[in-house]
Amino acid sequence: MALLTENILKSPVQFITGVGPKRAEILLNAGIRTVEELLYYLPRRYLDRSTVMKIAELTLDSGEVTIIGKVVRFGAVGARGSRQRFILYVADETGLVEAVFFQGVNYWSKFFKEGERVALSGRVTYYNKPQIMHPAVDRLNLEDGETFWNTGRIISLYSSSEEMKRYHLDSRGMRKIIRTALGKASEYIAEYLPEKILTERGLMPLKEAFEGAHFPNSMEDRDRAIRRFKYEELFFFQLMLANRHHQNSQPSGIQSDKVGELTKRFVGSLPFKYTSSQLEVLSEIRGDMESEKSMNRLLQGEVGSGKTVVALTAVVMAVESGYQAALMAPTEILAEQHYLTAKPLLEPLGIKVGLLKGYQRKDMRTDFLSKLASGEMNLAVGTHALIQEGVEFSNLGLAIIDEQHRFGVHQRYRLRSKGLSPDVLVMTATPIPRTLALTLYGDLDVSTIKEGPFPRNNISTRYETTRHLPRIYDYLRKEIARGHQAYIIYPLIEESEKVDLRAAESHYMQLKRGDFRKYNVGLLHGRMKSDEKEKVMKEFTEGRIQILMATTVVEVGVDVHNATFMIIENAERFGLAQLHQLRGRIGRSGDQSYCYLISDPPLSREARRRIRHLEESQDGFEIAEADLEIRGTGEFFGARQHGLPELRYTHPIADQELLQVARGDAFKLIERDPEMNDCPALYRRFCREYKDKVILADVG
Ligand code: ADP
Ligand code: MG
Repeated sequence: MALLTENILKSPVQFITGVGPKRAEILLNAGIRTVEELLYYLPRRYLDRSTVMKIAELTLDSGEVTIIGKVVRFGAVGARGSRQRFILYVADETGLVEAVFFQGVNYWSKFFKEGERVALSGRVTYYNKPQIMHPAVDRLNLEDGETFWNTGRIISLYSSSEEMKRYHLDSRGMRKIIRTALGKASEYIAEYLPEKILTERGLMPLKEAFEGAHFPNSMEDRDRAIRRFKYEELFFFQLMLANRHHQNSQPSGIQSDKVGELTKRFVGSLPFKYTSSQLEVLSEIRGDMESEKSMNRLLQGEVGSGKTVVALTAVVMAVESGYQAALMAPTEILAEQHYLTAKPLLEPLGIKVGLLKGYQRKDMRTDFLSKLASGEMNLAVGTHALIQEGVEFSNLGLAIIDEQHRFGVHQRYRLRSKGLSPDVLVMTATPIPRTLALTLYGDLDVSTIKEGPFPRNNISTRYETTRHLPRIYDYLRKEIARGHQAYIIYPLIEESEKVDLRAAESHYMQLKRGDFRKYNVGLLHGRMKSDEKEKVMKEFTEGRIQILMATTVVEVGVDVHNATFMIIENAERFGLAQLHQLRGRIGRSGDQSYCYLISDPPLSREARRRIRHLEESQDGFEIAEADLEIRGTGEFFGARQHGLPELRYTHPIADQELLQVARGDAFKLIERDPEMNDCPALYRRFCREYKDKVILADVG
């Protein structure tokens, strides 16, 4: 029986009547390989009586609504370029509504057909007549619309790619094959969540939940079904973290507990006293390092809050206790900066610091490697070059990783595996709200530096259109006349990298020869050779370049206190956190600084929100939270590269409460029964879904 269960759910989708080889191939592209995966392909949206309205009923207070009607006419209006819009008229028997799209004019022009039936969902605005801006669009078959109005049944709508639609795997087609699949598999769907949790949390059993999510009888039914899937997703996610946490808290044998004279001398040699925030996190770090459990700590604080000094203090404590330390940074520029900071502070105390670069003269590299392996070198600084084959430590006791959001969990564990089980300190300047950090990085403890040594200068941030650039260039010249420096940031996104790069380069030439011909203007982008980049950075650092035109390569680590002015072009193309990071390059001295966000209307609602947040706030936590809310985890963390599972059904902010509940349940379970002996079905499912992540945990 057990075998059969697995078999049907694990069968390829072709097992289902109505799915042939071609459809199977197309479903595979949508990530659906097996019958079970098909069942987990939940609807994206539902049509129901509580939100579908007749056009004549629409008012400004309607909020989010859905209307169902026929496409009457459509087309692009306005001049080509940024002002162009796409207008769509849809009618039902009560009236006509206009939908406006600012983006994707070409896409929408090809999308619609006159006379076809669609559902538009969005918020109603009024501009002489009712309008819906950027609605979500669902194409309906005639039958769906009729069924809906006639029977009031809830209709589930699925996302389907163009390719899926071509093979009639639109919402209707999907409903059909899912219906068949459920019929076939239903008696073999076995529950794997523990009975106790189901009861305690009032969760719908799996089989019922599939029915309720795909073919709900009522919205309450649907809500309960979806809640089960949400819980399940969060629960597995937290089980993974609980499992990792459990593995990590095994005694490692590394105890940096001989903190004494050397550390005192280091502290005494610093040209300043620690802030109270620094002292607080240092005592947390020290507690971890002295204990025989290994440290797994996230140290977060804004750029300039004094993390590096804290990290170096930890290095001294480790070295004094007889261990080596490693400091890994995401870019060569940053690694080098760390090296240049560390060397003068540590070498007077007899601590040997080395730098490993990606490209380095062979003899220097060999020298580095042999000193590291012999234990003569105490601190190794470098990029991911540090985790390559052939880099051997003699006695690694502390691994520090800067800018966690740029490294994946894999790299963290690989650096870790260079030592027996070294203490790990992860630093990030992209703060995430503390409660969220705890739930998302549940295997890490979190320390936060709340306030840096210097009060943050006010950066006045303003949104302007390109029309105002000449005036802004005047301000820029005034800042330079005061002896300051400036950045002009240009977006460069991967999809259109070539075009963007050309645009950036020609803009650079234009400025260099035109508006800023009296100054030294430099250009910095990721495609330059690393020695060219270094040269430009050096000239900017030394003040020989006054205006640096750059792509996002300056986002991390570039630290020129004299820079007080920043222009960010096409600001709408950057994410919120990224804009905040970029802006963090200025306002680092005692001087008032200015940031101009340039973008031409029409802006999408989200772009406007991002820009407004930035104008109003300089608080990294607040901005991070807003960013997360706007984008969701996937994009925020680059979920995959962080080894976090992709969240399909949940959002860490919107579903925060359920996340906490699931977290509590998962940690309690692992604490009581780390091997999951009492719940074999759960264990099997967990291993199947999270296998690579579980193995990863074993490495730690
Ligand atoms: P982060 O690594 O968080 O970006 P740093 O450690 O590089 O910050 O610190 C930023 C600057 O502030 C550095 O020049 C550092 O020497 C200085 N600094 C750090 N801690 C203090 C302190 N307690 N008092 C005064 N200056 C400090
Ligand atoms: Mg730093």
